[in-house]
Amino acid sequence: TIAHARSWIDGFASRCDEQKAYLTELDSAIGDADHGANMARGMGAVRGALSADEPQALDALFKAVGMTLVSSVGGASGPLYGTFFLRVGMTSGAVDSLDGAGLSASLHAGVKGIVDRGKAEAEDKTMFDAMAPALDALDASLAEGGDLAAAASAAAEAAAAGRDATEPLQARKGRASYLGERSIGHIDPGAASTALLFDALAEALS
Ligand code: ADP
Ligand code: MG
Ligand code: MG
Repeated sequence: TIAHARSWIDGFASRCDEQKAYLTELDSAIGDADHGANMARGMGAVRGALSADEPQALDALFKAVGMTLVSSVGGASGPLYGTFFLRVGMTSGAVDSLDGAGLSASLHAGVKGIVDRGKAEAEDKTMFDAMAPALDALDASLAEGGDLAAAASAAAEAAAAGRDATEPLQARKGRASYLGERSIGHIDPGAASTALLFDALAEALS
C-alpha cells in the first residue's frame, strides 16, 4: 500500500542517515568517500519532497523519489537509484497497492533501469550484486507461497549476503574500477546501501 511504500522510503532514509559514516568509510577505501553523504543528502531531500506533497498513488510516489534523487545527488548513485525508483513507479502504475507479483515486477523494472543506465553485470562489484540476489530470493519465496513479509525478509537476507560477497571481487564498473586489483578486499559501498534498501523494505512489510 501507499503507507507501506512511505514506510519503506522513510526507513531507507533513516538507515542512510544512521549509516552515513559507514557508507562513507566503505567509499573512502575504494572511491571518493562521498557515498554516505550522497545517500543521506538524497534521501533527506526525498523526505522533504514527500512531506511537501503527499502523493496518493504508487507511481507518483516513486516518481517523486526518483526525480528527487536524480536532481539532488551528484555522484553515480543519484542517477542509478533515481532511475531505479522512476522505473519502479512506472511499472507500479497509478494504483494504491500491489500484490507480490506486482511488487516483484516493479522491483525487476527498477533493477533493469540500473542495468540500462550503468551496464553492470554480476560480479562487477556494484549495487547490482546486492540487488540481483535480493530479487531472486523474493521471487523464490513468492513462488513457494510466501507472503510479502516473508518474501521481503528473504530479499533482505540475500541483499546482505550479496553485499558481503562483493568484498573479494575486483571492481569492473564505477570509480572503484580505476583501482584495479586494489579494489579487492573491500565491500562495495553501493551494495551496502542496497542492503539497507531491502532491510527497510523488509521492515516496512513485516
Ligand atoms: P561516485 O562513485 O560518483 O562518487 P557514489 O560514491 O555515491 O558515487 O556511489 C558509488 C556506488 O555506485 C558504487 O559503490 C557502486 O555500487 C555504484 N556504481 C557505480 N557505477 C555503477 C554502475 N555502472 N552500475 C551499477 N552501480 C554502479
Ligand atoms: Mg563516491
Ligand atoms: Mg563522488
